[in-house]
Amino acid sequence: FANLMDVSFADVISKCMSLGIMVSINQRLEADVIELVAGEFNYEVEFIGIDDEAEFEEEEEEDKDEDLVTRSPIVTIMGHVDHGKTSLLDYIRQANVIAGEAGGITQHIGAYEVTLKNGRAITFLDTPGHEAFTAMRARGAKVTDIAVIVIAADDAVMPQTKEAISHAQAANVPMIFAFNKIDKDGANPEKIKEQLAAMNILVEDWGGKYQSQEISAKQGLNVDALLDKILLESDLLDLKANPDKGASGTVIEASLDKGRGYVATILVQNGTLRQGDLIVSGQNYGRVKAMFNERNQRTEIAPPSTPVLILGLNGAPQAGETFKFYSDESEAKDTANRRAQILREQGIRAKKHITLDEIGRRLALGNFKELNLIIRADVDGSVEALSDSLQKLSTEEIVVSVVHKGVGQITESDVLLATASDAVIIGFNVRPSLQASKLADHEGVEIKTYSIIYDAIDEVKSAMEGMLEPKI
Ligand code: GDP
Repeated sequence: FANLMDVSFADVISKCMSLGIMVSINQRLEADVIELVAGEFNYEVEFIGIDDEAEFEEEEEEDKDEDLVTRSPIVTIMGHVDHGKTSLLDYIRQANVIAGEAGGITQHIGAYEVTLKNGRAITFLDTPGHEAFTAMRARGAKVTDIAVIVIAADDAVMPQTKEAISHAQAANVPMIFAFNKIDKDGANPEKIKEQLAAMNILVEDWGGKYQSQEISAKQGLNVDALLDKILLESDLLDLKANPDKGASGTVIEASLDKGRGYVATILVQNGTLRQGDLIVSGQNYGRVKAMFNERNQRTEIAPPSTPVLILGLNGAPQAGETFKFYSDESEAKDTANRRAQILREQGIRAKKHITLDEIGRRLALGNFKELNLIIRADVDGSVEALSDSLQKLSTEEIVVSVVHKGVGQITESDVLLATASDAVIIGFNVRPSLQASKLADHEGVEIKTYSIIYDAIDEVKSAMEGMLEPKI
């Protein structure tokens, strides 16, 4: 900054001090401070492309087609509480071990891989539910290839079933439906299919595109058929990766272990990770000292779609943080340190999300095309009325898209979804829960609540016309 203005560091520092801002020589200045100080030296500032967020994004060079090989799918299981997600994960974990291998998977490391009798593998994320899924997505992680939505066939499509569906759809992740508990007397999968149809989701035997399978997670009935359908979906997706380069992927879990230091479960999504490799994840880095699989066996290489627990990082990155192989130690260290500094200065890595006031500005910049909304109201009639009216506000320039709607209080899960989808939350006669409010503050997500439907519609409409005055 000093160099750009052709003045000495000391001049900049003393100018800052005279403005009441205490700085040191290697500190990054806030944008408004830069403007202020530049003004003092008679310079005008134009910011081009400074983006702290970008510091955290690992760029991937494109792989050539001939380097790509098929990789196995990564699956998340979602659905309403008590519909059998954990039971299904447990059954698969215990039943489908590689032929001849004794025992099963005893370790819980956040993800596991099973090899089926036909030799093909599937990786499951071991924390079921759409909250974990969307929390990772909110940090920019794209981990799941296929979502299995578990619905208890003796129950019904429940609020969290709908949430899971919205969350998977917002992430553009294909879904397979598992109608569970068919061993129970009251099980009626047809009724569930009908309820899904009412939400515009048609399963294959109703002439739609979604695969579905009746199962009993408890008895293990038809689980193999479900796994086959996952593989079929995976074939359609044509999942590929290049195993012949340094690894990149996502951190699933990380913690400090008393005996072993920092441990992290990571999912290799491209390239191959080897013991001894140097990786950077967020503000942490280190050489992989040892790797273990979900059976607690040591391994030395992890090809694409493999989850491994690794030792050797100098800290615990957040779940959902990406990682990447580095060949140069000082470059790795620099990257990690630069990010640590940004985090220290910003407190948290808060990304600014869309607000109604912001729309006018983004419109003026010409980069605003879709307004994502999450709608909550006290009764179903209002949810539908509001969502219909708001969607009808779509114009040629801006499409209004309702990523989720539901009856009842605004929840943390809504805020997570808003974070991941850059959405505004609209509440009618409902309020956010305390946790949801806190999370929204923390993540910079806007929650607007109304008690007159017309006000909500009017305000969104004005915002879309760029008519709302930005609040400072
Ligand atoms: P989650 O909350 O979705 O993870 O559900 P759980 O896997 O914990 O299952 C909730 C309850 O349903 C437990 O008591 C399970 O034993 C039971 N359950 C799960 N799957 C089945 C099934 O296929 N048949 C029967 N009869 N019970 C099941």
